[in-house]
Amino acid sequence: MEVASSPRAVSILHFDSLGLFYCGSLAAKLFLFLFLFLFLFLCSVILMVVSLVSGRAMRLLIVEDEAELRQQLQQRFKAEGYAVDAAADGEEGLYLAREYPIDIAVVDIGLPKLSGIELLQQLRSSGQSFPVLLLTARGRWQDKVDGLDAGADDYLVKPFHIEELVARIKALVRRAAGLSQAEIVFGPVNLNTSTQQVLLNGSSLELTAYEYKVLEYLMVNAGQVISKTVLTDHIYDQDFERDSNVIEVFIGRLRRKLDPDNRLQPIETLRGRGYRFSLPQDDA
Ligand code: CA
Repeated sequence: MEVASSPRAVSILHFDSLGLFYCGSLAAKLFLFLFLFLFLFLCSVILMVVSLVSGRAMRLLIVEDEAELRQQLQQRFKAEGYAVDAAADGEEGLYLAREYPIDIAVVDIGLPKLSGIELLQQLRSSGQSFPVLLLTARGRWQDKVDGLDAGADDYLVKPFHIEELVARIKALVRRAAGLSQAEIVFGPVNLNTSTQQVLLNGSSLELTAYEYKVLEYLMVNAGQVISKTVLTDHIYDQDFERDSNVIEVFIGRLRRKLDPDNRLQPIETLRGRGYRFSLPQDDA
């Protein structure tokens, strides 16, 4: 702080923005170099902490033309830990649904360019089967029938409470994963998708938001080989700078936390293919 308020230091810094050659002694150059290095290091640490705190989960698509509602939903689902993509009309919604690995969608029926039902029909006819919840206007019962016929998994009548939408989306995610309950239990590992808590032998496990998301995705898809790319795609949304090496770091940390004695080996690495969660599931 003293450095920034000293006029001499400020002038050195100013010249340095034009190049290190302009400043005086070797000590000053070294000082500036160290200063810049520390500054960049601090910036990257802050960015990393922010990204870890704001962890994401399943990738959710919102297609809604009312800007205010769309933003509200976007904020709420981001806060719930979802990676959120949002579109304001049916065509954009279809584009996003085809371009990105969406896990679940909330689609308004009354949309410009392509109605919610047409959008759903096109998705289903091209073989995309992720769960879709339709938003319908009050009293349009024919919409509900058409929507369910077109392959919707659930619907909600406007106006609705966001809490109800969140609860239904969570239920759809569980149903899609073949889970009737919020808890997934494999041996000593108990993961609750609703409270986002993980217990190991009954004791609460401290996981960062991203560690949780990686573990949840692997456990929901237990027994399947999940590539690093798939894991990255489902954990970050399109605005996020991706780095698949980070996944390796999360997997390493999860292994240490879940299996400190290296006896369980809950996460297998399949060379060149990905990871697999492979503990026997408990019969609940
Ligand atoms: Ca609408």
